[in-house]
Amino acid sequence: MTFNQLYKRKNIEEIGYFGELSDKNINNIQKKVKIVDDCWIWNGSTKKLKNGTFVGRLKFNSHPVNIKHLIYHNYIDTYKQSEIQIENICLNSKCINPSHFKSINLKNKTDDKINEVKSILSQKTIKFTGDFLQFLIGLRRPKILTIGKLGKMSDEYIERILPLVEFNKNQIKQDCWIWKGRERTQTNKNGHKHGVRKFKGKDIYIHRLIYHNIIEDLPEYNTKSLENQINHTCQSDGKCINPWHLYLGSGYSNILNSIEDKTSIILNPKKGSNHYKNKLSDEQVREIRKLRKEDNKKYKDIAKKFKIHPSYVCEICLNKCRISHE
Ligand SMILES: [Zn+2]
Ligand SMILES: [Zn+2]
Repeated sequence: MTFNQLYKRKNIEEIGYFGELSDKNINNIQKKVKIVDDCWIWNGSTKKLKNGTFVGRLKFNSHPVNIKHLIYHNYIDTYKQSEIQIENICLNSKCINPSHFKSINLKNKTDDKINEVKSILSQKTIKFTGDFLQFLIGLRRPKILTIGKLGKMSDEYIERILPLVEFNKNQIKQDCWIWKGRERTQTNKNGHKHGVRKFKGKDIYIHRLIYHNIIEDLPEYNTKSLENQINHTCQSDGKCINPWHLYLGSGYSNILNSIEDKTSIILNPKKGSNHYKNKLSDEQVREIRKLRKEDNKKYKDIAKKFKIHPSYVCEICLNKCRISHE
């Protein structure tokens, strides 16, 4: 199976740097792909990210673009950067086989992150007894790394900032902890003015320092990509430092959060028989599910039988795709 055997979508829009691949483009891509099992490994230019994954790059319309996004845009659906993130179900980030792509709805990702924070906080044993200082010290993680400007707040540091925080003793987890100290002079893209404070001689965002000390080690904030931004679940214009109201996200998830009810614009897995994975008939899809459910066959064996990737079998059996044929 190669790109030449795949069907592109119809009416591929020009969006940002993305657009329709010409036959020549496709041939050039194909030349840089090494097929290993069912994975199509990108051998062209790549960039390694800090988290160990690779981003394949290609010059398209004289701009370097992320090859996976371009493939997604041509074979799966319109690629809207602010709404989806593409991961590989085969776990090989260099693989550009579109049937191994999993598009992640950033809205769901936000919910996952919020739940993660909730679960971390629920594991803390400290109870609020009216002493805010002891409470904060008790919430602090046992081991806190120094990352960039961030590091461990000492007991004395916490004590010094307390008079600058306004909170409600009776609703300590629910209500905002409003920062009354200094603010950054400029507002950010969301119109927020975050609280700042000197920490080890440098100005630091106080909500990030709190998050780093209570929830998890925080990667450095990338102002360009808006990655690793700490977002708020509350409407406090960025002034709240209550860890129950914070979560690690991206600028995009923040935007999505504020347009909660627009979830319908986010891409859902396509249903029905005009999808790119349509090398299987509806009949075959039913058979695959039966083999798994009733005959308890292994994904691997079913995959062999139908000449598809095991992860795709898994997707079908878990009803992550082809759901309209139940
Ligand atoms: Zn793959
Ligand atoms: Zn809040």
